Amino acid sequence: MSKGTISVQTEDIFPIIKKFLYSEHEIFLRELVANATDATSKIETLARRGEYKGELGDLTIQVILNPEERTLTIRDKGIGMSKEEVEKYLNQVAFSSAKEFLEKYKEDARIIGKFGLGFYSAFMVADKVEVITKSYREKEPAVRWVCEGKPEYELEETTKEERGTDVILHLGEDGEEFLQKARVEGLLKKYCSFLPYPIQFGTRKEKQEKDGKETEVEVPNIINDTHPIWKKKPTDLSDEDYLSFYQKLYPYSEPPLFWIHLNVDHPFHLTGVLYFPKLSNNIEAQKNKIQLYVNQVFVTDEVSQIIPEFLTLLHGVIDSPDIPLNVSRSYLQGDPNVRKIARHITKKVADKLKELFVKERENFEQKWEDISVFIKYGMISDEYFYEKALDFALFKDVNGKYYTLEELKEKLKDTQTDKHGKLVLLYTNNPESQHQLLEALKSYDYTILLMKDIIDNHFMQHIEYKDDKLTFKRIDADTPDKLIEKDEQRESVLSEKEQKTVQKIFEEVAGSKQNLSVQLNPLSPEEPPVLITQPEFMRRMSEMQALQGGGMDFPEFLNLVVNTNHPLIAKLLKKRKEGRKEMASYLVNLALLSQQKLKGEDLSAFFKQTIDMLNK
Ligand code: ADP
Repeated sequence: MSKGTISVQTEDIFPIIKKFLYSEHEIFLRELVANATDATSKIETLARRGEYKGELGDLTIQVILNPEERTLTIRDKGIGMSKEEVEKYLNQVAFSSAKEFLEKYKEDARIIGKFGLGFYSAFMVADKVEVITKSYREKEPAVRWVCEGKPEYELEETTKEERGTDVILHLGEDGEEFLQKARVEGLLKKYCSFLPYPIQFGTRKEKQEKDGKETEVEVPNIINDTHPIWKKKPTDLSDEDYLSFYQKLYPYSEPPLFWIHLNVDHPFHLTGVLYFPKLSNNIEAQKNKIQLYVNQVFVTDEVSQIIPEFLTLLHGVIDSPDIPLNVSRSYLQGDPNVRKIARHITKKVADKLKELFVKERENFEQKWEDISVFIKYGMISDEYFYEKALDFALFKDVNGKYYTLEELKEKLKDTQTDKHGKLVLLYTNNPESQHQLLEALKSYDYTILLMKDIIDNHFMQHIEYKDDKLTFKRIDADTPDKLIEKDEQRESVLSEKEQKTVQKIFEEVAGSKQNLSVQLNPLSPEEPPVLITQPEFMRRMSEMQALQGGGMDFPEFLNLVVNTNHPLIAKLLKKRKEGRKEMASYLVNLALLSQQKLKGEDLSAFFKQTIDMLNK
């Protein structure tokens, strides 16, 4: 037996490893099973190249829990190590890379996935680690390496028949929880569900039919699916395969709308399947469902540093060995590979959407409600995506017809361009409560869009910012004739004097109400006698204020527009003083009511007024 000291460096890293991120202790299992997988893949490669002539045999990796002896063993039939290799890899390479990792970690505590501690992560949970290994080279004797979490180790020859490595963890107090079968199985499922070699954790009972009788038999408890769909060719997969994989990842979710299979070899490696989920308005709750893998080993489902934020609304899996994981998060975003990967995924997503739009427009329109939040969010937050998405982002009008922005521009250029040359895109956020306005607008041959999502205000603002030749206006922003400013002016049927009187009457009535400013407007006699409008700019300001939740209530500014060409206004002028006021107040209340602006005491008073009038 030989004894040695792991490193000449003075600092003892074992206490640091033990303390390392208390909540992340569980990653030791991932690191060790990943090592076992690497060793297995290496022997396969050697066999393929003819450098290993022996039998490969069953390559299943075993994870064996023995609560009585307080051990957890990870056993592989990989390449194994000779005595020299143990000295080189475990005492030097593994040790110094663990050390390097811990130093980096000290600089930035949020290292993604906590990848990189490697073999020495075993000491987070074990008081003693024993490695019994036999190299694939026949003549090399098996060796046993033992280390008790101190820089000193023991190394001796031993007997082991089979090629490969057993890493035996003698669990200490810090590893107590890993003596529980369910805990270990849970971790294997979390990190190892898609590893490329079978991982067996004990056995399980399975019902089988034999000679018409059902019997229970013990079968190996294999944790993983060694051929996950993202590693397969899209041509070998059916819709069913994609859907059932989605169900496996997100058991209680509604089926996804569609998906993208990613497969890149150059200039980086990336595979994966991204799904478009059915999104609801609650965006936050649906973020960060994408799982990140490195060579089929699960790392994290926090991918917001890797892909543009709006893409974190997608679900699914990405797998890339080219994402540097033992670096700090802040470094990650600046990494050229990560940037290329992000751009690539964005492009693929945009291409897929465009393809669906071009090839199956009807189907795309049907799905629009479900994907619009995602697309709008993407357009607002990502310049590159904005440009691409202009081709397929849709606007729906109140009649249920869909247009792209280009189509709208083409359709509306003659009817909805104002006297300043701006295209005015009219919209309603609530066709029910703005029904009266919609009716009034029917004679104008305008296209009224439906913009009712929470995100729409931002979205419209963003388009205006990108394209200064157009502007959005909600239909209650002005009276129908003025929504799109043209040069023509309608004549009022009232004399100047009469107009002054009308102004005075309504100002008196409005004086007792909210922030109402009275304006006279000679509209068509078919349009309502009194209208409430809310200037677009002021309304957006107050909405913004409300969204930011500053606590301060930005007052609502409303215009009270009196249609001086309406027969009722002429009739009103014929009345006596009291009658005039009563009628004016009634008309104002009616207009407020139709815009859902009549509330509280004013609403009750209006009811009373109506009943009194009917009683007369
Ligand atoms: P990494 O796996 O990132 O190289 P580790 O610290 O986990 O770092 O391991 C260091 C080295 O020890 C590996 O590169 C490998 O050569 C060797 N090693 C670890 N585990 C095994 C194993 N199960 N079988 C064979 N070699 C192993």
